[in-house]
Amino acid sequence: MDFSLSEKEQKLFERAKEFTREHITPEANELEKRNEFPKEIVQKAYEAGLMNLHIPTEAGGPGLSLLDETFVSEATGYGCAGLATSIMCNNLAFAPLVIGATIEQLKKYVEPLITGKDAKFGAFCLTERGAGSDAGAVATRAVRDGDEYIINGLKCYITSAPQASLFTVFASTQPELKTKGLSVFMIPKGKGVKIGHIENKMGQLNSVQSEVIFEDVRVPKECLVGKEGEGFKIAMKTLDKTRAGIAAIATGVAQRALDEAAKFANIRHQFGQAIGRFQGIGFMLADMGARVAASRLLTRYSAWMADQGMMNSKDSAFAKFFAADSAMQNATDAVQIMGGYGYISEYPAEKLMRDAKLLQIYEGTNQIQRLVSSGIILRESANLDTGFHVKYDGKDAPIM
Ligand SMILES: Cc1cc2nc3c(=O)[nH]c(=O)nc-3n(C[C@H](O)[C@H](O)[C@H](O)COP(=O)(O)OP(=O)(O)OC[C@H]3O[C@@H](n4cnc5c(N)ncnc54)[C@H](O)[C@@H]3O)c2cc1C
Repeated sequence: MDFSLSEKEQKLFERAKEFTREHITPEANELEKRNEFPKEIVQKAYEAGLMNLHIPTEAGGPGLSLLDETFVSEATGYGCAGLATSIMCNNLAFAPLVIGATIEQLKKYVEPLITGKDAKFGAFCLTERGAGSDAGAVATRAVRDGDEYIINGLKCYITSAPQASLFTVFASTQPELKTKGLSVFMIPKGKGVKIGHIENKMGQLNSVQSEVIFEDVRVPKECLVGKEGEGFKIAMKTLDKTRAGIAAIATGVAQRALDEAAKFANIRHQFGQAIGRFQGIGFMLADMGARVAASRLLTRYSAWMADQGMMNSKDSAFAKFFAADSAMQNATDAVQIMGGYGYISEYPAEKLMRDAKLLQIYEGTNQIQRLVSSGIILRESANLDTGFHVKYDGKDAPIM
């Protein structure tokens, strides 16, 4: 087993860290006050080759691995989780297309968005007012009309929607079949596609979310990704891949919270000594460090599994909920360790705490991640022989 990064991986990680030090960390707090899409920095990230990493080379992308993506997400998440979300939003938007579309479809609809001079954006449109965790409740409809589909519906909380040129939309082609009637479409910005209410948020203010309204939008049948009814399967495969990216941003947030808290604990003196020397603070720092290390290992392992073509639903769910909970806990502890300074917006911990909360909610809440992983644990245990044979409720265990 080799935990070291290859030279290529190390270089990419260093490049993303340098970009963060130069462009993200110094600007993030000021940018937040504008509460708008951070176009200039995202453009710089695009020019630095830090976007669209997973698009295959046949469709004009760099064809990097999911593990590579985690290095960029961790590094940018360390500087600002909102900016990291804006920089990485195309990973989520285009992942269903990389999974389900043909190379011809990718070349026609995605390549022009990732090869031009200016950064362009995609938006992943699954959530609706009545369909959050329960994707089977999607009410957006796609109806076949000759060689076209007509799409009607309203999506909400959609990241980078106001900036997007292409919308990856989950719509029902057979509502009575629930999840089995869900299909996925690529919808270019155009007639009938409208941006609705822009959401106001608690944190991650350097990313933008809005409603997207589809009103009698007509697209050619080639905009269907995969086959009718494959939308839910494609959505689940997408999230298996993209959870590692969120876990990596969370690892960056958790590391930053630890670094800021440790720096403060060394400098701040009370009762004649640095507060880090008090065991109550020192033990908090130790727990924070362990959370960072464990988050990073779970994240990289789940990404590596996907890169090997292994089923990683359980491990990517572990990575997502553990790293997001760790980011939230570390940010909360950083505020506590920094006392009054922790609560004041000019200092870094307050923003970390607001930003971390979203990591536990988007791309599947942490409860849903626990639902996914516990379901797999129960299925796996059905055939497990622990070697300890006993009867429960009159039934043989462990073979049931
Ligand atoms: C800033 C932001 C950005 C987002 N970006 C996007 C995007 O780009 N594209 C997109 O499609 N969506 C996006 N979302 C939507 C996000 O993925 C959903 O908010 C999330 O999946 C939860 O759905 P919900 O808000 O409807 O909550 P609900 O599903 O209503 O859940 C409410 C609560 O109930 C819990 N719960 C629900 N079902 C269960 C269950 N079976 N067992 C236990 N607990 C359960 C949840 O964990 C949660 O705590 C974004 C959301 C936000 C806030």
